[in-house]
Amino acid sequence: MDTENCTNLYLQVCQTFLTCNYNDPSTFEELYKLLPWLRQSLTCCICSNVVTNPMSSTQSHCQHFICRQCRGGRMILRPSCSWCKDQDTFEINQHLVVLVCCFHKICELIKNSPILENIREYDRKRAENLKQQEISSNKEISPKKRRKSTKRREVSSNSLLNIAVYQVLEDGLDVKQSIDLTG
Ligand SMILES: [Zn+2]
Ligand SMILES: [Zn+2]
Repeated sequence: MDTENCTNLYLQVCQTFLTCNYNDPSTFEELYKLLPWLRQSLTCCICSNVVTNPMSSTQSHCQHFICRQCRGGRMILRPSCSWCKDQDTFEINQHLVVLVCCFHKICELIKNSPILENIREYDRKRAENLKQQEISSNKEISPKKRRKSTKRREVSSNSLLNIAVYQVLEDGLDVKQSIDLTG
């Protein structure tokens, strides 16, 4: 995802968080949808973690980025990207450095807000629903088809959009960058 989209997502998260009414949990729902998107948009193409000390190509327009410490590793992109094969030409992406700092900060604010209690409840219900869906879909499908559908599920569970909201906050709080922005 390009940095402009990441920035827009971040702004939407901020706006949604700031307009939450703590007495009305229905106003949190939008935030729970946006947070996994933002988390996914800040994913390193090599390690899948939230990108730390982000680097990207200054020569290509593909907008892929990786952590400084991941440089030289294999990108997990499918199909692979021919634009940014030469990671030696990658440079620190200041815009993303700032964005990841902001993501870290907003995760901290949300985790320390009254919403946290509701997030745990939301994640618990979501996990329960997923389990129920799995049970009922296994009942309906014949064993032969089930093998196929298991495979499909593995792929979809790789998607970070299926991540628990609390895990998004943890991922954001885990980021420790070592870039000095004042320099
Ligand atoms: Zn990485
Ligand atoms: Zn690329």
